[in-house]
Amino acid sequence: MEKKNRVATLPQPNPMCGGDGPHSYARNSSYQKAVIDCAKTKIKEVILEKLDLAHMCLDLNTFKIADFGCSVGPNTFDVVQTIVETVKRRYEQQNIREAQKHLEFHVFFNDQSNNDFNTLFKNRFLSVCKPYFIAGVPGSFYDRVLPRNTINIGHTSYTLHWLSKIPKEVCNINSLGRNKHNISCSNLVEEMSKAYKSQFEKDMGDFLGARAEELVSEGFMIMSGMCLPDGVPMVRTWKGVAIDTMRDCLIDMANSRILNKERVESFSLPLYFPHMSELEEVIKQNECFSIEVLERMIHPMEDLPLTNDFIASTYRAIFHGLIEEFFGDGVVDELFDRFAKRLETHPIDFQTCVKDIQYFVLLKRNSH
Ligand code: SAH
Repeated sequence: MEKKNRVATLPQPNPMCGGDGPHSYARNSSYQKAVIDCAKTKIKEVILEKLDLAHMCLDLNTFKIADFGCSVGPNTFDVVQTIVETVKRRYEQQNIREAQKHLEFHVFFNDQSNNDFNTLFKNRFLSVCKPYFIAGVPGSFYDRVLPRNTINIGHTSYTLHWLSKIPKEVCNINSLGRNKHNISCSNLVEEMSKAYKSQFEKDMGDFLGARAEELVSEGFMIMSGMCLPDGVPMVRTWKGVAIDTMRDCLIDMANSRILNKERVESFSLPLYFPHMSELEEVIKQNECFSIEVLERMIHPMEDLPLTNDFIASTYRAIFHGLIEEFFGDGVVDELFDRFAKRLETHPIDFQTCVKDIQYFVLLKRNSH
């Protein structure tokens, strides 16, 4: 089943499952959409209360918005539309009539170059409503992807836990065989946590450094996503338990000789969910931004026991590309069939899991 000649040496951060089929991210991202729904209320508040259009550098009345790690939709359209409508209201509120007459929006959709941009651009909302001018911006958001001093509002949601790569120390720890039983940062092995944490700090530093250049003075950077309460290891959350379940399925597949054992043992996910204080600390280190808001949101699904089918299809849409690239074609169906079955026989005990935190952050670009 494995096609060794085509697979990557290390698991790579990979886009979400493209297209609009039954396993696509477009049809299996309501968990991430719910975070955007909560953030939308806050986005409206902060734009109406804090966006200073009078002092913001506006290029010929074109208001520029960028969504970093937009994936294939529809979530990105939802949040961008909220930003556009609220900025229009802010123009009315600040009574900038002259600019309002000519106001146009230009939206930059960024994701990794192998993201399914075709699905994004084919979306009916864009083709029918033509709500704003659009551009696709392929490339890693850990580098500069847009010209200096051009973006008025940057946004990113559920993206910053994706590291740019697996930290090299984790590969070494793997090669010493110490990581055999962890495929992500469980926060139980100290050396591993340190390695993931320092990669996260480097990546976040790069992300904020790049955005600091791209944003205009007084520009907003809005970020939402998931982190952990201080002191709580990832393995105590339901998402950590689900990742361990995925690992158990990979080990079963190695034991059944469907997958190569060494390859499974060397598998890790380039993911790191920081603790709330780590997130705050790394943001503070960039002096180009002031932290206007950093708070916790309640995920609307937080108290629902999620069904096993829901968890399996959400995880499949997220990890499809990464698994296929590392283990080869034909593995994804088998892995996620096993994953769904294992969730039935070993259900996640939501009662004993600790709740993770959904964060909402608003940064304002200080004057250049
Ligand atoms: N913001 C969307 C998608 C979240 S999924 C939503 O809320 O629904 C995470 C997205 O981040 C994926 O599309 C993935 O390809 C993208 N991503 C991860 N690392 C990235 C990087 N270094 N540069 C650009 N995009 C990245």
